[in-house]
Amino acid sequence: MERKILHIDMDAFYAAIEMRDHPQYQNQPVIIAQDPRKTRGRGVVATANYVARQSGVHSAMTAQEALELCPTAIFQPPDFTKYKAVSQAFHKILHEYTDQVEPIAFDEAYLDVTDNKKGIESSLVLARMLQHQIYAELRLTSSVGVSYNKFLAKMGSEYCKPIGITIIKADDVKDFLYPLEIAAFRGVGKKTALKMKELGIQTGADLSQWEELDLIRHFGKMGHVFYQQIRGIDQRKVQGKRQRKSYSSERTYAAGLTTRADVENQLRRQATRVSERLQLDQRQGKTLVIKVRNQQYETITKRYTQTTYLANDPEELYQHAQRLFSEIELEQLDLRLLGLTVTNLAEKEQENLQLPLWDSV
Ligand SMILES: [Mg+2]
Repeated sequence: MERKILHIDMDAFYAAIEMRDHPQYQNQPVIIAQDPRKTRGRGVVATANYVARQSGVHSAMTAQEALELCPTAIFQPPDFTKYKAVSQAFHKILHEYTDQVEPIAFDEAYLDVTDNKKGIESSLVLARMLQHQIYAELRLTSSVGVSYNKFLAKMGSEYCKPIGITIIKADDVKDFLYPLEIAAFRGVGKKTALKMKELGIQTGADLSQWEELDLIRHFGKMGHVFYQQIRGIDQRKVQGKRQRKSYSSERTYAAGLTTRADVENQLRRQATRVSERLQLDQRQGKTLVIKVRNQQYETITKRYTQTTYLANDPEELYQHAQRLFSEIELEQLDLRLLGLTVTNLAEKEQENLQLPLWDSV
């Protein structure tokens, strides 16, 4: 039977919260970061509102670069304790519709609403109701993608932002995917997009012309994923809290991850994601696993287990991950996959509201 899957993503989450709480920020460019003029150029952009984005500001760039692009911007230092509380309220609303919720980040989740608590048949009606309820209760906007699998639902939520609802049915898959730029596909980062273009693959339509084995020859295991994506196939299930034995974040790099700085950057992001998901589900684990795949597509894992639970702290997870990474022997730094997993899980006994901050944010 066909599933009904939603991907919901809050619009410019941290910036939207600050705009809600500071009405004087309306129509101003707002950047969530320490003001680089007060930190001698240090700091990284956590997010920016849509006005600032029009000047080319985006998350993960340095605050200094953002200031140069947008000299009139308001720099608002992040308040993660507040964002976490709002995130919990957001996820609580999601659970009024179904417990088949897979948190992806503080501001993002997949829902399987095939059998939902409200008994709503139409996933479009449900998506609209959800979007309205979130706005009514939190005064924040969101975008929703509606489809029959996770890949298409996510493509949908990204397609029309902010305050969008995009529904992709089986009959629309070609019309939707074929005109898209290749960079819009899952797993296609900057380097992979370049490699695709060298092969003459500019759009989804170009991708659809390729044989599976040829894609695998150029992109390894991701070749198989790309082949399935363009046909609208994705078998991954929405993983509710109850079924989970582990929390992971991993990414493939079809064109390779080749510098130490890139590896550290990616480990940091993954540590943040894993820690956010554990916090949202109120769980903790004793084992951290790092997984890498080298340029010969060999997969290597290293694990670290403690007798006590690991703190749900991105910095601590990152430190362990970095140490495990340095123990892996690689002939050459050219990774095709990097991932972090926390496993050996238990329910957390009580809510720990402390959310340690990245020094650099
Ligand atoms: Mg978002």
